[in-house]
Amino acid sequence: MSPRSISLHNTLSRKVEPVEPLEPGVVTLYTCGPTVYNFAHIGNLRTFLFQDLMKRTFLAAGYQVRHCMNITDVEDKIIRDSQKGLDPAADNAARHAAMKELTDRYTKFFLDDTAALRIVEPTYIPRATAYIPQMIALVKALEERGLAYPREGSVYYRIAGLPHYGCLARLDRDGMKAGVSVDADEYERDSAQDFVLWKAARPGEPYWESPWGPGRPGWHIECSAMGIELLGERVDIHSGGVDLVFPHHENEIAQSEGCLGHQWVSTWVHGEFLLVEGEKMSKSLGNFFTLRDLMAKGVDPSTFRFTIQSNHYRKVLNFSFEGLKASENALRRIRQFRKRMEGDGSAAGEGAWKASVDPMARVEAAREAFWAAMADDLNTPEALAALFTLITDINAQDDRVALTPGERGAVLAFLDETDAIFACWPHEEEDALGAEVEALIERRRAAKAAKNWPEADAVRDRLKEMGIILEDRKDGTVGWRKA
Ligand SMILES: [Zn+2]
Repeated sequence: MSPRSISLHNTLSRKVEPVEPLEPGVVTLYTCGPTVYNFAHIGNLRTFLFQDLMKRTFLAAGYQVRHCMNITDVEDKIIRDSQKGLDPAADNAARHAAMKELTDRYTKFFLDDTAALRIVEPTYIPRATAYIPQMIALVKALEERGLAYPREGSVYYRIAGLPHYGCLARLDRDGMKAGVSVDADEYERDSAQDFVLWKAARPGEPYWESPWGPGRPGWHIECSAMGIELLGERVDIHSGGVDLVFPHHENEIAQSEGCLGHQWVSTWVHGEFLLVEGEKMSKSLGNFFTLRDLMAKGVDPSTFRFTIQSNHYRKVLNFSFEGLKASENALRRIRQFRKRMEGDGSAAGEGAWKASVDPMARVEAAREAFWAAMADDLNTPEALAALFTLITDINAQDDRVALTPGERGAVLAFLDETDAIFACWPHEEEDALGAEVEALIERRRAAKAAKNWPEADAVRDRLKEMGIILEDRKDGTVGWRKA
């Protein structure tokens, strides 16, 4: 059976369009990962959750998804925080070690958070610092094409050299300050300038040797280098929060397409911001939360997950504790319904009169409505409305005449199908664990195929931590069991 067609809002065209993967049935997906120098806040997590929703929708629709999410482990704030308190005379190796110590710690916290939120692990989770040679090669290629120039040990991208620079953010080319350069990784769209690809090392910073002298990569180049290396010269979907449209994604396009000479990504998908109790989240307002903060207040991660997923990803979400309560009630209703369908129907025959429905036809109608909504730019409010209408109708029917085991089975199959996307009403805990373990096994296989032994070992250790024992089978596949 061929996969269902899924449409997404493409920031490039500003239209909702069907996603047609280059290789039929296989979606390549790149998502910009975390900068690991502190805990992810719930606004960051909203972006990762919407990307998980998108990915799970493709998986449930019958596609394979090759997903790459980078870990930004070298960057201004990381250097600032990791070098604090270091002996001023520390050598480069010590500076790198301090940086790695900080980023290892927060990478682990990040992966713990995403596991708690049942986010399916990406196929590849490359760290930027493991791809420095690829970044240097990319900058050199841009230099050879006249799209980059060195200055005082740094290298800048010449935006005037790329006729379609500004295509994603829809910048006014006349307003651009061509020839003026900017060293900061983040800046406003009205100051589009020649941006930095490679930064000359300043005293006291960890560095790598390069053709331009000691330095380190700018933030934007890593996603181009790792995306091309791991997913290829044409990628189906690239995604991030709306704050990444400019300059980060605009600059990724400039780097990748300037080097490749053709379009790199077909569909750009961006998720909206999150407000907390009507205000922008900030530490000074006291409305700044991490997942740990919520859990300390007794919030179940799946309730937070459902709160995010039940709102449309392209609408600003006003997160509130009142809203969490509503999610809790909605989830209770779905889970109670699931329990009822798993039962034997002995409670039936007590309901008030209501027009009879054919359970099999109702399940089919709900499935159609659910998928029509999900396929239309991940319209989760409508998809969930289809599910709740089904629950109301089937509960009423089961009150009158108990559903047959076959009908119960059909309802439960639909609940499994929808939970494959929402991951909030599993059949049993083993299912959620299974999906995570399978994803890790796939990551280990990919790492081994790429001869990336440190990554393969890291995944093996992680499975060990989870108490999973792997069994290499004769046919080359890998089985697993709980210790
Ligand atoms: Zn990126």
